[in-house]
Amino acid sequence: MLDLLLTNATLPDGRSGMSVAVREGRIVDIGAGLQAAAGQTLDAQGQLLTPPFVDAHFHMDSTLSYGLPRVNQSGTLLEGIALWGELKPQLTQDAVMERALRYCDWAVAQGLLAIRSHVDVCDPRLLAVEALLEVKRRVAPYLDLQLVAFPQDGVLRGPEGPQQHLHNLQRALDLGVDVVGGIPHFERSMQDGALSVKLLCEIAAQRGLRVDMHCDESDDPLSRHVETLAFETQRLGLQGRVSGSHLTSMHSMDNYYVSKLLPLLAEAQLHVVANPLINITLQGRHDSYPKRRGMTRVPELLAAGINVAFGQDCVLDPWYSLGSADLLEVAHMGLHVAQMTSQRAMRQCFDAVTGNAAKAMGLENYGLQVGCDASFVLLQARDPVEAIRLRAKRLKVFRRGVLLAESAPSTHALHLPGRPAQTTLMP
Ligand SMILES: [Zn+2]
Repeated sequence: MLDLLLTNATLPDGRSGMSVAVREGRIVDIGAGLQAAAGQTLDAQGQLLTPPFVDAHFHMDSTLSYGLPRVNQSGTLLEGIALWGELKPQLTQDAVMERALRYCDWAVAQGLLAIRSHVDVCDPRLLAVEALLEVKRRVAPYLDLQLVAFPQDGVLRGPEGPQQHLHNLQRALDLGVDVVGGIPHFERSMQDGALSVKLLCEIAAQRGLRVDMHCDESDDPLSRHVETLAFETQRLGLQGRVSGSHLTSMHSMDNYYVSKLLPLLAEAQLHVVANPLINITLQGRHDSYPKRRGMTRVPELLAAGINVAFGQDCVLDPWYSLGSADLLEVAHMGLHVAQMTSQRAMRQCFDAVTGNAAKAMGLENYGLQVGCDASFVLLQARDPVEAIRLRAKRLKVFRRGVLLAESAPSTHALHLPGRPAQTTLMP
């Protein structure tokens, strides 16, 4: 007997009237109109069933700290970094954990069941690292949390010399942080930036870890650390295990140079994570008009065969005063910023917050296929484009066959003479 039989679902690939059969936390069958005895049945009523949302780029050590110790008055990246520097000495492990756990509650409610979070390793106390490792253990029954050792202030810019932050980063990895991070454009010079990429990729290769670097997060067309990242990836045999996050400088680069760069990224099987909400607000701040959008070249990267995900990056923290763990909001913004309005491109934006992000994180058993984890979200929408348009309600959120969260369908009561009594904003 099955544990769960979900019927009459529409899948992201467009197949409708589909059933999904679940036993012991796994999908054991998937097809049109399946019939079998099940402990629990659920009629999807033709709505969209999707694998869970995945956020391939987040900062959980700073999330929900909005207003501490003060708000970011200018809303700029540099004031955000300064503000984080003010907040860091005041952090306590309990407060970081409490905020992170609350954010994970929001994530589950939004059907977001896997998050890659950077964690700042420059504080020698490694307080945030220890807090998030504990959060990772606590949320493991319901959410996959992957941690990146992130030297926010520059891995070679330690006040006590270039070994200081490098040493802290190694200690964080020793404690169990999963991925090697970096921020080459924030090092003191281009040369130090390139050196940091080389050193950090070598650490990842030695330890058998993945890499995810904040890379070229600026409007500087000459910030080209992603080229070094791709070079080190292929030199060290890290293909498919390295992500370049942000890559906003690519927006401003010379077209000829980009035509040389894209095949190098494809050769290195680099994953790219754009963060549309943050990129559109933080980049282009030194422009008058025309004002650059600042997001990396998403359609061109996809056309070159490169895996591109969209990340949330920040929620209610020194850098961003908004956000709600809603990856459909992220996809919505990405679609607009990149002008990805063709039917195919809109669906690619949905993939960017589901399958592509799972691929960047290296998640196993992810997807709506036989043998995969029975983790999925039923949305109040009939297809991925409608889901993005409505930032659709997450009606049911399942992980490994267990119901984790549910929401009542969204509806609006109307009091209009001669008109229907309610609308769901669906034609
Ligand atoms: Zn980031």
